[in-house]
Amino acid sequence: MQARAAPYLEKLNPQQRQAVETLDGPVLMLAGAGTGKTSALTARIAHLIHTGRARPNEVLAVTFTNKAAREMKERVGRHLGGAIEGMPWLGTFHSVCVKLLRRHAELVGLKSNFTILDTDDQIRLLKQLIVAANMDEKRWPARQLAGLIDGWKNKALTPEKVSGRETAAFDNRGSELYAAYQARLKTLNAVDFGDLLLHMVTIFQTQPDVLAQYQRWFRYILVDEYQDTNVAQYLWLRLLAQGHKNICCVGDDDQSIYGWRGAEVGNILKFEKDFPGAAVIRLEQNYRSTEHILSAASGLITANEGRLGKELWTEAEGGEKVRLIGHWDGEEEARWIGEEVEAIQRGTRGNPPISLNSQAILVRASHQMRAFEDRFLTIGLPYRVIGGPRFYERLEIRDAMAYFRLVTSPDDDLAFERIINTPKRGLGDKAQQRIQVAARENGLSLLDGARMLVAEGALSGKAAGQLRLFVENVARWHEEVVQASPATAVTRAEDDELLIEPAEDGVAPANDLSHVRLAERILEESGYVEMWQNDKTPEAPGRLENLKELVKALEQFDNLQGFLEHVALIMDNDKAETEEKVSIMTLHAAKGLEFPVVFLPGWEDGLFPSQRSMDESGLKGLEEERRLAYVGITRAEELCTISFAGNRRVYGQWQSQMPSRFIDELPPAHIDVLTPPGLYGGGMNGGGFGGSSAMEDRVSRADVYNSPGWRRLQNAQSRGVSQPREARHMVIDAKGESDYEIGDRVFHKKFGYGEVMGSEGDKLVVEFDKAGEKRLLSSFVVPAAD
Ligand code: ATP
Ligand code: MG
Repeated sequence: MQARAAPYLEKLNPQQRQAVETLDGPVLMLAGAGTGKTSALTARIAHLIHTGRARPNEVLAVTFTNKAAREMKERVGRHLGGAIEGMPWLGTFHSVCVKLLRRHAELVGLKSNFTILDTDDQIRLLKQLIVAANMDEKRWPARQLAGLIDGWKNKALTPEKVSGRETAAFDNRGSELYAAYQARLKTLNAVDFGDLLLHMVTIFQTQPDVLAQYQRWFRYILVDEYQDTNVAQYLWLRLLAQGHKNICCVGDDDQSIYGWRGAEVGNILKFEKDFPGAAVIRLEQNYRSTEHILSAASGLITANEGRLGKELWTEAEGGEKVRLIGHWDGEEEARWIGEEVEAIQRGTRGNPPISLNSQAILVRASHQMRAFEDRFLTIGLPYRVIGGPRFYERLEIRDAMAYFRLVTSPDDDLAFERIINTPKRGLGDKAQQRIQVAARENGLSLLDGARMLVAEGALSGKAAGQLRLFVENVARWHEEVVQASPATAVTRAEDDELLIEPAEDGVAPANDLSHVRLAERILEESGYVEMWQNDKTPEAPGRLENLKELVKALEQFDNLQGFLEHVALIMDNDKAETEEKVSIMTLHAAKGLEFPVVFLPGWEDGLFPSQRSMDESGLKGLEEERRLAYVGITRAEELCTISFAGNRRVYGQWQSQMPSRFIDELPPAHIDVLTPPGLYGGGMNGGGFGGSSAMEDRVSRADVYNSPGWRRLQNAQSRGVSQPREARHMVIDAKGESDYEIGDRVFHKKFGYGEVMGSEGDKLVVEFDKAGEKRLLSSFVVPAAD
């Protein structure tokens, strides 16, 4: 049979093959990390298309992150040799829903060119509503309301459906404010992230013909990371799949890490009930990690109760043990990791050189990234932040985007508010209030309200002329946008989330780049660029650079709307780059990914597990944190390093930290405890690639505390030294070697052996044998052992 010869089937094991070839009816693939679930899912998409079971655009595949979707797309393309007509609907829940909602927006009272609000806009809007409801905005913060509404949307609850105890939320006014918020969004012709799904669920539930149309259309549905679907996503899937019932879900209960966002592991367990007769396939061979890494992760996760439980094995026996190391403080941790990354890249640890692209630092909370960014910038180590603070969140970019938004969607009042007086147009609070009033009283958007005031000649002086100019400009730009691309046009950018729309869709206009030139002109003619040109702050040149970058980014899209959509959806703006870079990302963003080398810093109680999970009664939160730890370790293929710091600066205050309780739970046979750097009980940090300084017996926090370097930290601390930096000198002091003499031999981690040539306070001048003369803090060298 032709299909059997297909290359994408060859690599698969019998269970994976079963998952790929069981095409009719529901399939559930339930298996641990790295067992090839995503690989099988991808092969299944290729198989469906290759065997002619479905045309590409009759296949709907959803996954969790943009990055994962992109990778899946690439893999399907490779499997099929690229030569297929059309592509599957392949993207995140949100990206698929936004496409569907644009087609059916009118069914929920929106226009098809609706805007997608980001969190900032959402908060601003909620704040207005809270104030309008005469509530104390300090006591009842908008952020809290946003969280509440988000939670309801994740559960597919529209304002009318919020009931029972939940109505008491937010001073008994939560659901009322929720309703007001939804109404406001409608007048703004806008949606928030949660709405994308909520509206589609509502449409499917209330419009049987629309639902039937898509049930017929999507002949095959595939879902990756099924354990993390929330109620709204689950309902959406279940509704869509009830037609053909050809749904294939893959997941791992041990990797469920979105409970805090309303994900329900229970969805996995319900699958067999929802889809009777489902083929359940289990995979047990892990192809990703070496034995020690897999065993460390498996050992840790057994501490969770209520698991489905599964055995994993790997053919990759042995390998490096998982390394564990404690550091004095967060900066030192970042410094050490930076040096390790470089050493591993160069191959100076007795390992073959490993590219920066193959190394990742996975943090629990995004604020941890800064220490690494700072350090890496200092030493010139190229890095990329995935899913972190992004380009598109910068002030100037958000302003520019607001211009683009207003021009494409003139009803977008939030965009209007943001830029009406940026740059300054003499339209202060008073003038803006008049616009607000005019708009409200006449049921108009702010832009139309402003237009009305201009027509009536209601304003005087400089403001009047400026407002007229602004209104006319926006109208003119809008005209150009409409001409350049009809509202229904779709993007066809390379990395758009859905590659190609079903054939019945509108034809994308030719990309003549007119929208790029228009964007440029908008920024010029509005005076926005000039504003930064005249700005004398040191940031201004960088901001102008960023604006140029923004315009450049537009070239990959057919029109402004497509671009705006892309930005609203994209979680990582990381394009394929040629330069090698080490990745920094949160553990959540790392789901489904793999790297030969993984660093897991910040394993400290209160950070990981998070304080919140520790404060909670019950184990739910803590178990989710443990699953997150499991996800972290199982990202590693060859080398995994867990670290913690004894001190961290929290809100400007130094705070001493306890190593994470998860460290106690790691199976000692698979762990190597390294000696902290900079503080030596003799010799350099043992271990490293190929090395070993494993503590005997068992690993525990106590062991870590008892490791020579760590004990020193503790000693220094117990002597009442509160400042880590000073404390470090004290540590050396304690050894009686704080004062080096000229001629002393010393050792430095980076520069190697050298001789002290002079000293000045706590600084030394050292002539290194290889690196030459350096001035450095005495705490960075140790007496040479020779
Ligand atoms: P996760 O739970 O982390 O999402 P997963 O189960 O989706 O993991 P994949 O990412 O599909 O696992 O696969 C893990 C690694 O194993 C990949 O590098 C993949 O190429 C490889 N792999 C998958 N199946 C096989 C196989 N049958 N033979 C050899 N290697 C395989
Ligand atoms: Mg996967």
